[in-house]
Amino acid sequence: MPSIYDDAVVGAGIVGLAHAYHLAKRGRSVIVFERDQRAQMASVRNFGLVWPIGRPPGEQLELAKRSREVWREMLRDAGLWHDESGSMHLAYQDDEARVLAEFAADAAGQGYDVELLDADQVAAKAPMARREGLRRGLFSATEMRVDPRQVVGDLPFYLARAYGVRFEFNAPVTHVEPGEVQALGQSWRARRVWICTGEAIRELFFDHVRDEPVYRCKLQMMRTAPTSHGAKLGPSMAGGLTLRHYPAFAACPTLPEVVARFDGETPEFARFGIHVLISQNASGQLAVGDSHQYDAAITPFNDDEIDDAILRYARTLVEGPLPPIVSHWYGVQMGHRERPWLRKSPAEGVHLVTALGGAGMTLSFGLAEKVVREELGEG
Ligand SMILES: Cc1cc2nc3c(=O)[nH]c(=O)nc-3n(C[C@H](O)[C@H](O)[C@H](O)COP(=O)(O)OP(=O)(O)OC[C@H]3O[C@@H](n4cnc5c(N)ncnc54)[C@H](O)[C@@H]3O)c2cc1C
Repeated sequence: MPSIYDDAVVGAGIVGLAHAYHLAKRGRSVIVFERDQRAQMASVRNFGLVWPIGRPPGEQLELAKRSREVWREMLRDAGLWHDESGSMHLAYQDDEARVLAEFAADAAGQGYDVELLDADQVAAKAPMARREGLRRGLFSATEMRVDPRQVVGDLPFYLARAYGVRFEFNAPVTHVEPGEVQALGQSWRARRVWICTGEAIRELFFDHVRDEPVYRCKLQMMRTAPTSHGAKLGPSMAGGLTLRHYPAFAACPTLPEVVARFDGETPEFARFGIHVLISQNASGQLAVGDSHQYDAAITPFNDDEIDDAILRYARTLVEGPLPPIVSHWYGVQMGHRERPWLRKSPAEGVHLVTALGGAGMTLSFGLAEKVVREELGEG
């Protein structure tokens, strides 16, 4: 064990693991502190979707695509399950179909890799998509899914095995200063400290986030039993509701019509910030979610009305009945109202990276690579 590490990472969620990966790959000695016996927060509670199509064109889209490349390389090396089936946005209304066509018309120039499909082409790629009323679909090849519980649980073993990263679990960090981390009643020396504590950032660095326009957001999720007869979802699925959620579609001229229709017919979706994605894991279970409730609206309890609304919409996207729901949960993510993440250096050699909002799985490996490269002065 070195008497001084090159790097101490605080937090073994996906952002901490991504930083540990990029640092250790450079041959640096790395120690990671996680307050729980395993990471249990947003990084294990999400869909596991690496979702570049949700990012706006420009830096975020490019970073998301790079992140996906790093994810793929690492998952292949680690032997961890992932599925590169892409994504399918389904349109069951004419206004939704127009938004998809508007997006597709400009997509290649913006850096997206999409195909506009008719209903038969959608059925060939996405056999579980509901056929009745389907106008068209937008297939994108760049989305990928991982099993968040598996990757966040197993990556520490891989990083330890492949790169000699040391993990201290059940080790809440109580104090950080340049060159030093305190945990478990001990001081640990490290040349640099990377703070990746997710929404717990206020506990260690309140002074540095209190004036930032950050928000907390609670999301409700569900998981079904495996699909019958091993039915495959194919691409992860989204519907018209998702068009208003992600900034990628914001410039489509017909989007306001879609938003107005949903607000008029089903105002509960906007009230609870619901849009619906469906993904599938290696066991055939479907993850279905989610809702978005902010700050003061967050309670420790799941709301059945929200789950019912999510399921009502999800059933309009799939052919036949959804398998029974076997688990309900929620997660809380932190985001920044003005920037796609929060990055600060509160002291020499201390770097804070958090508040990636709903894109932490998508951006983590690309963002960590960029941050590490810049902080280490690699240009
Ligand atoms: C329901 C839900 C669905 C989502 N779906 C997606 C998706 O499909 N795709 C996507 O890209 N993003 C998704 N997101 C967003 C994504 O999950 C988050 O952006 C991401 O997980 C944040 O990772 P993190 O490492 O910053 O935070 P966290 O996962 O919260 O990890 C921080 C870790 O730091 C530890 N920690 C805190 N304080 C200390 C301390 N003092 N000492 C030691 N350890 C400490 C915590 O225990 C925790 O394990 C979703 C989020 C939710 C909630």
